[in-house]
Amino acid sequence: MGHGWEGVVLKLFRGKDFEFTVTGTEDVTEHYRRLHLTDGGMLALTGVHPTMWVRLWFDHAGKSHQRAYTLVNPDPDSGTFSLEFALHDGRASDWARKAAPGDTIEATLQGTGFETPEPQPSRLLAIGDAAALPALNSLLAALPGVPATIWFETQHAEDHDLDLRLDPALHELHRVERRASGAHLVDEVKAALPALVQDPADVYVWITCDTTTTRALASYVRKELNVPKHRVHALGYWRPEKR
Ligand SMILES: Cc1cc2nc3c(=O)[nH]c(=O)nc-3n(C[C@H](O)[C@H](O)[C@H](O)COP(=O)(O)OP(=O)(O)OC[C@H]3O[C@@H](n4cnc5c(N)ncnc54)[C@H](O)[C@@H]3O)c2cc1C
Repeated sequence: MGHGWEGVVLKLFRGKDFEFTVTGTEDVTEHYRRLHLTDGGMLALTGVHPTMWVRLWFDHAGKSHQRAYTLVNPDPDSGTFSLEFALHDGRASDWARKAAPGDTIEATLQGTGFETPEPQPSRLLAIGDAAALPALNSLLAALPGVPATIWFETQHAEDHDLDLRLDPALHELHRVERRASGAHLVDEVKAALPALVQDPADVYVWITCDTTTTRALASYVRKELNVPKHRVHALGYWRPEKR
């Protein structure tokens, strides 16, 4: 299958292509589905890092579109991992809803990476939603012993049942209902952050919400709270309808 211009651009940047095969499915909630897959030899070649993600290729009306998804429990020895899909309107969600054992999907590995914050932060401040759940869980596992405050934006009542892998002794979770296209989350986080950021160079801030929310919070954290660039990871995970 050709990937059109997006594929060409990624190839120029030396993306690696693989084919994954679905081996099992789980409906975690009505709006969240987990697929188990084999990796087509990817992990043995590439290794694994925290919050690792791949670009999956979805066909729609004869065209191919890439969407990013985070690996859950990647295991290079068995060549397996899972993917978790927050379900909504969309090609990737449609594919995930119907996916069954034996189905295959093409993937490109390009752009993913992770740098462990050095020195170790005194506190992790992480903000995300269901699309970011796999990344948040991977991030928490990558920073053992680091106290964390997490804001998790929910779009459905069932999002409360989603499994954040928390250490109750270290991690504090705030679930915030998505209101005003994310503006409510921005307000909640802004109200709480100053008290948690005593020394801006000492914390690590992870922001992976929709693109508008991510931009607003990243700008606030860098400009108003003076957290240095290298202590902020901000990446919009999905593009919301225009406000
Ligand atoms: C590095 C990275 C890792 C990611 N990992 C994951 C992951 O592990 N699991 C996961 O579910 N998502 C993940 N995402 C987000 C995912 O790539 C996007 O949500 C993507 O837009 C979904 O594609 P789609 O074809 O289903 O919908 P699109 O065709 O992109 O969008 C269709 C409609 O759905 C809306 N929409 C898109 N995403 C969401 C959402 N999350 N919530 C509500 N509405 C939405 C759009 O505004 C649009 O109206 C990740 C994104 C990045 C950048």
